[in-house]
Amino acid sequence: MIASYYHSLQLFAKTVIFVYNPITMKRYAIGIDLGGTKILIALVNKETGEVLASVKKKTKKDKGPKNIIRKMIEGIEELMEETSVEKSEISSIGIGAAGQVDRDNGILIGAPNLDCYDLPIKDLIFEYFQIPVYLGNDVEIAAMGEMKFGAGQGCDDFVCVFVGTGVGSAIVKNGQIVRGATGTAGEIGHIIVDLNGRPCACGAHGCLEAYASRSAIEKRIEGALRKGRTSVILEYLESGKSITSGMIRKSIEREDELVKSCVDEASEYLSGGIASIINFINPKLVVLGGGLVEAVDYFYERTIKKARAKSLPVPAQKIEFSKAKLGDFSGVIGAAFLEERK
Ligand SMILES: [Zn+2]
Repeated sequence: MIASYYHSLQLFAKTVIFVYNPITMKRYAIGIDLGGTKILIALVNKETGEVLASVKKKTKKDKGPKNIIRKMIEGIEELMEETSVEKSEISSIGIGAAGQVDRDNGILIGAPNLDCYDLPIKDLIFEYFQIPVYLGNDVEIAAMGEMKFGAGQGCDDFVCVFVGTGVGSAIVKNGQIVRGATGTAGEIGHIIVDLNGRPCACGAHGCLEAYASRSAIEKRIEGALRKGRTSVILEYLESGKSITSGMIRKSIEREDELVKSCVDEASEYLSGGIASIINFINPKLVVLGGGLVEAVDYFYERTIKKARAKSLPVPAQKIEFSKAKLGDFSGVIGAAFLEERK
């Protein structure tokens, strides 16, 4: 009796050590959001999704592969020092980059904004830290973040649409990101909404992002201003600086006719694109995020109302909409989970 009690105690102790030993568990991961103008690096608790510490590095003036790698290494070291988390407690480093990526080999194939081509990011970072490294793209990690701890939590069948410089999207099916045959599924920004339309950076004409992105709105406003139209946005614009989502919000709050008409036009196109996605994929939920959506409620509300109206009746009745919930952190939190990707 005593022997068996002792035995079960031993077993219990072993289990406790196995379950709670922080080294076996490695409960932290580094998430990196490598954008066109900045790198956001965070130390994430994988159990809670909490960002323990984060650091932002600008990349705009510091282009080139060497600088990008150096800044990532510096950032990771700063975070470990700040939080006193040891290398042995970190399970992986996940990187989501704004550009084309080769996920299997961890190579950043092309990121024109960063002046990086065929950069073996995975090998270079692994060489330095000896921690497994995973590479994905920026939209994929933002969607993963929203799936794990944001607006998509508890829903394994949804679509994320992010509106910023471009319009990006990710499809989540059965709790996994749909990648497609060449890993490029979800390019909602390049669905064609006008056959003879505006030229797009991809080389085609009439792509959604040439109408519905923040950059598209910016171009419309700037074009109208050049032609002599007036707007309260001029009060916020410093010369040489570009229009921000915040400026658009303030102008709409003041009922500015020009800004409102440009935002209405973008919303008209975006809602058409989203309705097409709803009809085609039939998701349970559409999560909308990105700087413009976060800053301009008017744009979000108008877009979801119109998207529902333009969808087929059956999916339109059931579809749910939500704003992304993790803001700037959706990418870094999602990147911390790239290691779970199948
Ligand atoms: Zn395009």
